[in-house]
Amino acid sequence: MNINPLKGVHDLINDEAFDWDSIIEMMKKVFNAFGYSYIQVPTIEMASLYARKGDSSDVVRKEMYQFLDKGNRLISLRPEFTAGIIRAIISNKLYINDQPLKYFYYGPCFRYERPQAGRYREFNQIGVEFIDEPSIYNDVEVIRLAYILPLAFHLKVKIKLNYLPSRASREYYIKELKEYFKGHLDKMCSDCHDRYERNALRILDCKVPTCQEIVKDAPKISNYLSIDEQKDFLFAQELLKELNVNFVIDENLVRGLDYYSGLVFEVVLDDNEGEDLGAIGGGGHYDQLIAELGGPSSLEGVGFSYGLERFVSLARRYAFSHPDYHPNRPLLVYAPLCEEAVHEVFDLSMKTRNKYLFRSVQFYHPVSIKSALKFANKVYAPFIILIGEDELKDRVVTFKNLLTGHQEQINLDDYLDVINNAVADGLMEAEKEGKVHLRKEVR
Ligand code: AMP
Repeated sequence: MNINPLKGVHDLINDEAFDWDSIIEMMKKVFNAFGYSYIQVPTIEMASLYARKGDSSDVVRKEMYQFLDKGNRLISLRPEFTAGIIRAIISNKLYINDQPLKYFYYGPCFRYERPQAGRYREFNQIGVEFIDEPSIYNDVEVIRLAYILPLAFHLKVKIKLNYLPSRASREYYIKELKEYFKGHLDKMCSDCHDRYERNALRILDCKVPTCQEIVKDAPKISNYLSIDEQKDFLFAQELLKELNVNFVIDENLVRGLDYYSGLVFEVVLDDNEGEDLGAIGGGGHYDQLIAELGGPSSLEGVGFSYGLERFVSLARRYAFSHPDYHPNRPLLVYAPLCEEAVHEVFDLSMKTRNKYLFRSVQFYHPVSIKSALKFANKVYAPFIILIGEDELKDRVVTFKNLLTGHQEQINLDDYLDVINNAVADGLMEAEKEGKVHLRKEVR
């Protein structure tokens, strides 16, 4: 008997399975640092948990795996985590003693989609939910966390950001959108016809070029935000800038699930490569889901989810791409070239470690360039930071990419803000120059 795997599933074997686990372990450390506890919820739930009244999303309407069990109950395999986690928080009355509630989760999800690059029918998500009385600070903290995670694997990403108006103004906006699209429907794709009927907001997200052309002149969502919502959105942008989060506003970003309201975002790689995979992750604020599922109406939530298949394949491509580079080996070697530089090395490496969990090795005594390089080669570190008298005088460090031989000076005062991107750029540059080899093609 020869049984083939089902369409849209995958096996994890050898290195890939090991890398998968080490990436999750590393992410858990980051979640821990942001104060998240851990939650596991069932893979099966009553279908009505996801298919709530008025839901217009493809994820729920078209893609859910559903079946009647032997007790004639309509059951769903989970298509996403948020609804299940809110259900668990309410069933276990977690909100009575603990607030705010911060949980991370990971595990498989199921969507009956057309399999293609980066799109599976059984795939895994890892993410967080932060439940509390609403505050824009919570939303920004969650975005910052979503931004840090790929950076911890030297993936340079950007956040696409948008703000969805509250229900009443959204309904009004959708009415105006329909008015506008009515005159163009004959030129639009069949999915958009369907979206027009169910939720015209989704047309904004259509990837078909003719539809995108028509969307360009559609009414803009930002004109339908209340004064308070506009203020919130601007304040969030200010905070994100303060936190050095690389973001762009995308007024057409509406997200695939219906419960979002307020700040929403997606995470994409900050170059063209890997774009074929689509967003690596996404999330946002939800205002009424908790009340809708029977919880207190004072509580709202914000969360995000990364697709692990996409995340792991990109992390493997960059972070683990040096043939001799292993996640347990140091990424950076710090070498003070004179006595006065030792304290600077101590300071920089500690602070960087606190912020990014970088693996680094440092000398706390002066070394010669030659012996520092010899050591870095021995441990296969791809980067070395040199600080000598000249560097101290100019308040810079020399950042040398040992894979490509390129070096640059980084301002000491900016070091913490730029080192992560310098590492990410350095790995990508080495890959482009063929100095590191992809261990695997992106699947
Ligand atoms: P969503 O819940 O649709 O916002 O999805 C969040 C993330 O999960 C996406 O950015 C993807 O990385 C991942 N994802 C969603 N659907 C799939 C799928 N069918 N196969 C693989 N990854 C997926």
